[in-house]
Amino acid sequence: MRHKLVIGNWKMNGNRAANTALLSGIVAGLNDFGADCAVCVPAPYLAQCQAELAGTPVAWGGQDVSIHAEGAYTGEVSAAMLRDFGATYVLCGHSERRAYHHESNELVAQKAVAALAAGLTPVVCVGESLAQREAGQTEDVICGQLQAVLDALQPDQVADIILAYEPVWAIGTGQTATPQIAQDAHRFLRNCMANKNAAAAATVQILYGGSMKPENAKELMAQPDIDGGLIGGAALKSTDFLGIIQAV
Ligand code: PGA
Repeated sequence: MRHKLVIGNWKMNGNRAANTALLSGIVAGLNDFGADCAVCVPAPYLAQCQAELAGTPVAWGGQDVSIHAEGAYTGEVSAAMLRDFGATYVLCGHSERRAYHHESNELVAQKAVAALAAGLTPVVCVGESLAQREAGQTEDVICGQLQAVLDALQPDQVADIILAYEPVWAIGTGQTATPQIAQDAHRFLRNCMANKNAAAAATVQILYGGSMKPENAKELMAQPDIDGGLIGGAALKSTDFLGIIQAV
């Protein structure tokens, strides 16, 4: 049985005071919901997460990672640095990184490899744009994004990643994928993974992301191949975030 996981992606939001209020609201509202949860925060706030979340059920992580271990890479943050601040997860290849920082499938794959090498769990994000969906290219696009990562991993490493299906047209738009659209994509991705490692494909968590809210979370989470959510906007209010966790 795959456990459900809800990860908040704060993107470039927050400040120390607001973060404290948000984190304490989440911790106070959590009880035995049956889902794991985490927040992926801007790098400057990892230390705050470590200080305020250690010993709670809420894990934390970064939103991006360098492919390099250390050295002359101004502005980059290594996987070991994320680990140093207690991070469990790191997002790799979020569509905003792919779009605004021109991250290729191969670069995203190298980030996942770097994360795993340092003991982090990479949350590999894939998803098609509206134009790609309308052109009937959804499966080619998301399979290509996933395949680059699979090609870079040893078969036994496939079990150590998390996948997030985030259709670009659903991110921050309020236009959530229907449960059936999301389920079809998740099933397809799981089948793609099975070619590399069938046992791992059955256990890897595949999260859905794109305008997930308390009102639509239950139906999405009820799909057989949807193992949780990657939440943007609704992760910035503790009541919304808790509402999604509760929907599990
Ligand atoms: P959203 O963002 O929930 O605001 O659509 C999801 C994401 O980008 O991870």
